[in-house]
Amino acid sequence: MLVRTLTAAALLAALVAAPARSDDRIEIFDAHMHYNWEPKPYYQPDEVLEVFRKNRVTGVLATSRPNTGTHVLMDDKAKGKAGDLQVVPFIRPYRVRADIGSWFNDPVIFDLVQEEFKRGYYRGVGEFHLTGKAADTEMVKKTVDFAVANNLYLHAHADDEAVEILMRHNPRAQIIWAHTGFSLAPDRVAAMLAKYPKLWGELSYRSGIVDGSGKLTPQWRVLFERYPDRFLLGSDTWVPERWASYGDIMDGYRAWLAQLPPAVAKQIAHGNARALFAEK
Ligand SMILES: [Zn+2]
Repeated sequence: MLVRTLTAAALLAALVAAPARSDDRIEIFDAHMHYNWEPKPYYQPDEVLEVFRKNRVTGVLATSRPNTGTHVLMDDKAKGKAGDLQVVPFIRPYRVRADIGSWFNDPVIFDLVQEEFKRGYYRGVGEFHLTGKAADTEMVKKTVDFAVANNLYLHAHADDEAVEILMRHNPRAQIIWAHTGFSLAPDRVAAMLAKYPKLWGELSYRSGIVDGSGKLTPQWRVLFERYPDRFLLGSDTWVPERWASYGDIMDGYRAWLAQLPPAVAKQIAHGNARALFAEK
C-alpha cells in the first residue's frame, strides 16, 4: 500500500514537473485572416480559436466582412477565451462582397472606416482591393492619409502600380502587401522592397516560392535572405474552402520555412508580425 502511494505521489510530481505537451512546429502568425460574418461565419467563435490552437497559430491579423467577426474575436480576447493568441484587428472597409469593386469611390465607406476606428483597438485598415489607377481616387487618398495620421497600417491587395500610387498619396504610408503581387517577377518585388522601406510582403497565393517538388526556388531564397524582415505569412480565409484547408496551408508554409536558416524562418513565420504589431 505504501509502495503504491509513493508511486502515485511520484507520478503526480512527474506530471506537474513535465512541460506542456511539446510542440516543435514553428509558431505561425497568420497575417491575412478573414473571419467573415457575411454571408455567415464558417466557424463559431470557439471553433475558430481551436483551429488556431491546433495549427500553432499564435497571432492573427484579423479582419471580417462586415467587421462583426473581428468584434467577436476582440470580445473573446477581452474575456480571456483566446488564451495567448495575439489578435491584431484591422478595419475592413466592406459590408458585403460587392464593396470590393466600389469602395474606392464610395464616401459611405470612408465614413464606415472613421466610425469603426472609434472602437479604439484597431491597428490597420484593410484588406482592400485595388488594381492600377483605381488607387488614384480622392477616397483612397483620404483613407491613406487617415491611416498615416492615426498610425495605422494598410493591408492592400494591389498590383505594384496601385502600391506605388498608395505610396505617392502619402509617402509615410505603411503597407502590408497582400499576396506580394501574386506572380509578379521576384526582381520587381525586390525593387519594390528596396524602394519602400515601409512595405511588407504577405505571401498567401504567392506563386514561385517553391518548385514542383516543393523545393524553395533560388529566386525566393535570395529574396528571403536579403529581406528577412519584410515578409509575413497568411491564410487568406476569404471563402469556406480556405478554412477547410487551413491546416494544409500552414503545413505548406512550414515545409518551405524548414529549408531556410532557422533565424530567417522564425522572422517570416512570426517574428516580423510580432515586431510590427508589438503593443504600443
Ligand atoms: Zn484576403
